[in-house]
Amino acid sequence: MRKPFSSILETIPPSGIRRFFDLVANSTDVISLGVGEPDFPTPWPIREEAIASIESGKTSYTSNSGMPECREQIALYLKERFNAVYSPQDIILTLGVSEGVDIALRTLLNAGDEVILPEPNYVCYAPLVQLSGGKVVPIDTSLSQFVPDPKAIEKAITPKTKALILCSPSNPTGAVIPKSVLKDILALAKKHEFWVIADEIYAELSYDEPFTSFASLPGAKDYCITMNGFSKAFAMTGWRLGYLAGPEAFISRAIKIHQYAALCASITSQYAGIEALKHPEEVEKMRKSYEGRRNLFVKRLNDIGLETFMPKGAFYCFPSIKSTGLSSEDFALGLLEHGKVAVVPGGVFGLGGEGFIRCCYATHIDLLKEALKRIERYLKTLR
Ligand code: PLP
Repeated sequence: MRKPFSSILETIPPSGIRRFFDLVANSTDVISLGVGEPDFPTPWPIREEAIASIESGKTSYTSNSGMPECREQIALYLKERFNAVYSPQDIILTLGVSEGVDIALRTLLNAGDEVILPEPNYVCYAPLVQLSGGKVVPIDTSLSQFVPDPKAIEKAITPKTKALILCSPSNPTGAVIPKSVLKDILALAKKHEFWVIADEIYAELSYDEPFTSFASLPGAKDYCITMNGFSKAFAMTGWRLGYLAGPEAFISRAIKIHQYAALCASITSQYAGIEALKHPEEVEKMRKSYEGRRNLFVKRLNDIGLETFMPKGAFYCFPSIKSTGLSSEDFALGLLEHGKVAVVPGGVFGLGGEGFIRCCYATHIDLLKEALKRIERYLKTLR
């Protein structure tokens, strides 16, 4: 008999979001609020530039860390947009933020190192920590409006703490971590000497106040790895382009993993990325549209009896379904079967997610309105 597959992998369940995605694929007439994806195609000037690059035969590998022009543009963008100062050599272009998270964890972790995860949180973090040999130390943010409480973080710190992952604006809740809390977290990172991995993929999609990048805090850069990418803000999920930025000691090690496991990001996507950064007006158009949909959707959810706090960023909201007495999984399955609306049960996002559902409102406004009617009808059947 052949030897067994990776034993760590056997302990990791498949993505809970994907399971619901597959259920939707088998149903007809379902409105999906399940997948976290812009409903816009990539803006035309970006697509046009990519087409032109292919037409002129630019189809080769690039340097491992990515084309210098693309990294220069990103460095400029991070500085001008978020006051996060990196030089092009501090940046590696990755196959989406997904690869960036994987590389960062594999660069930092030794077996048994602990990573603090404020939860509910994006589904890739915990499995990737485990695959890197690390141990997840979850903390529940549901009691602090889904913003990690520095006191709870401090309680979770042990001599084995190597890193903390922050996701702001958050998937799945839409919560944004205020600057004052980021400062407290930085003070903890300095005191206890751990890394902060800041997933800022939704940085452009913040609504009520300007976004604070962790790296922009004085003295933060030596402690943090900044993750960002093109998928969400630029409606470029299929291009698979993201980047990580960090101190030289980190980058010089991280590049080895990227070099061997991915070689480089797609050259076509890199040309598209350079063009994307020249079109902040396209991002703003989409941001405004999400904001309008957020306002309508969240208000109506509250009106029909699902208590929902106003998310300050990303394109998700996280209604409480506790009043129905159902588990989030049963609620979501029932809503899919009887109401023909797909949402993701909050439990899949870890501690504190149970009792909530994640709805992505990056969906056409008419479909959102119809989904609200269906949710209301479904709620009536539960009373
Ligand atoms: N990080 C967060 C918080 C996300 O929500 C997602 C996708 O949903 C990703 C990372 C993955 O993004 P990418 O398409 O850049 O791999």
